[in-house]
Amino acid sequence: MKFKGMLILEFSKPLTEEHNGLIRHVVDELNNNILVKGATLPEEAAKVVDFRIEDGKLVLNLETGRQVRIHSAAMRIKNYVAKIFGSKLKVGVRGLTLKDTVIELDGEFSVSPKIPLIRKLLVDEGKTYVYLDVMDESVLKKPVLDRLIKLLNDKEMRAKWKGKAEHWQLIKRSREKEPLFKEDPNKIFEEIGWIKRFSIGQWIYTPPAIYLINMIKQLFLEEVVKPLGFEEVVFPKIYPPEIGLKTGHLKGTINSMLFASLPISYDISAFEELIDYMSVMNEVPQEDLRDYLRPPSYFLCFAQCEPFYQFFSGEIVDDRALPIKWFDQSGPSFRWEAGGLHGVERLIEFHRIEVVWLGKPEQVVEIRNQLLERYEHFMDKVLDLEWRWAWVTPWYLEHAGVIEKISEEINRPGTIDFEAWLPYKGSRDDAKAWLEIGNISIHGTKFTDPFKIKYSKKNVKLWTGCSGFGVERWMLVFIAQKGFDPENWPSKPREYVKKNPMPKSLLTVTYPKTKEGKELLKKIVDLYSNP
Ligand code: ATP
Ligand code: ZN
Ligand code: MG
Repeated sequence: MKFKGMLILEFSKPLTEEHNGLIRHVVDELNNNILVKGATLPEEAAKVVDFRIEDGKLVLNLETGRQVRIHSAAMRIKNYVAKIFGSKLKVGVRGLTLKDTVIELDGEFSVSPKIPLIRKLLVDEGKTYVYLDVMDESVLKKPVLDRLIKLLNDKEMRAKWKGKAEHWQLIKRSREKEPLFKEDPNKIFEEIGWIKRFSIGQWIYTPPAIYLINMIKQLFLEEVVKPLGFEEVVFPKIYPPEIGLKTGHLKGTINSMLFASLPISYDISAFEELIDYMSVMNEVPQEDLRDYLRPPSYFLCFAQCEPFYQFFSGEIVDDRALPIKWFDQSGPSFRWEAGGLHGVERLIEFHRIEVVWLGKPEQVVEIRNQLLERYEHFMDKVLDLEWRWAWVTPWYLEHAGVIEKISEEINRPGTIDFEAWLPYKGSRDDAKAWLEIGNISIHGTKFTDPFKIKYSKKNVKLWTGCSGFGVERWMLVFIAQKGFDPENWPSKPREYVKKNPMPKSLLTVTYPKTKEGKELLKKIVDLYSNP
């Protein structure tokens, strides 16, 4: 990696040829001292290759390596020149621009992101040349070029690994269990009126549906979450965009996030025209609505753990509080899923118990492992599901331009997905017949770094972990494998039904909609009437 560019420094008084001697002296000092600091090899440092005075400004041609990149070199030069010229000539640096900057990267890149900073990208004989626009101090003093290079490398790696990478590796599975049921519970829930469609990917759950969901939630809390000492908190469900920038979701999953806008004014008279229109036309003018709203000020709960990192942002945490183990079940998450919506399998608005923890690395790994043990007990014994776990974090790392496979060790940052078989979707050999019902992650410093969550001692970095338990999906897979009849269920859910009577199902002239639905409802309700 190399950089070339032309740095132009403007001063409070124009320079003239008489300053040449001092400049030569300054350049020597820069090249021998200031610009080599921090570089292990001369070619990794920065160098002023020549200089001239033009229109009273100082023009320096720079060549730099990987360790003193051109933007850092520019700032070092500015600071040093400002000091010398200030004391010797009593002139100050007025402005700083970097022109004709070219980054030379090893390898022929196939990606070319459209960013204002990039003028063009050329590939030639094993190298990629990135031509940049003019940059001023406001850009140079931030690590914008470092981020640009990272973006190029990340995009290139994703492009290279597309389709090749193993992002799904089975790590554990239950024994095969003969399903007691083959039908699609989604269809039955709707037919018997336990759930009613509200809007795309949204349902209204009537009391018996919530009864089943609460059964699964309560069992999960009693068998997994509470025995490990997690305590309940309440997290907000709409988040300012900056939080999504820090978590990375705005960069990684913006295509499936929902946003919320504030009204243009608190003064109702600002809406008069709109209100008049709706009053007369009795319709919502979707397009015009935009004019009455501010640009999105929030995104809707996406991962559900975002507020956890925000809470600890800027805090210094010590051993009195660590490890911190919380869970939130206070509200919905939202995903734009575009397609594949089916019953409660894939929703736009869904509900989740989100388990989060913060600690020293060994604590975070240990908690993840304790959770895994309880999760296995829950899936295998409590719900008696046919399940499997997969490691879904890429096994590769890019190291100095070379992609290499790293160890297949799970006590490190990464994600495990929990999946269960949906017999109504096909045989267990068919990948499409499996549904992700939850996952568990060790994040390492992925969130503690950007949110600046610190440990009281400098030498240790805190880690976080989280696990999402999507309650509609767990309920669905349980019924899909075990059916509606509690007689056939394992003991814990059966006991729940014994202790807690199922609430009455809604029956009216028009609801459930069909005669078959009403009849089926009666049969199913009977299963719970005398548990
Ligand atoms: P999928 O691969 O099925 O889209 P995901 O990888 O997007 O799932 P995560 O982002 O890992 O899911 O979310 C954690 C959990 O939240 C999932 O395991 C699942 O239980 C639940 N979940 C995610 N998306 C949905 C959805 N659209 N409808 C219902 N539950 C969902
Ligand atoms: Zn999370
Ligand atoms: Mg998804």
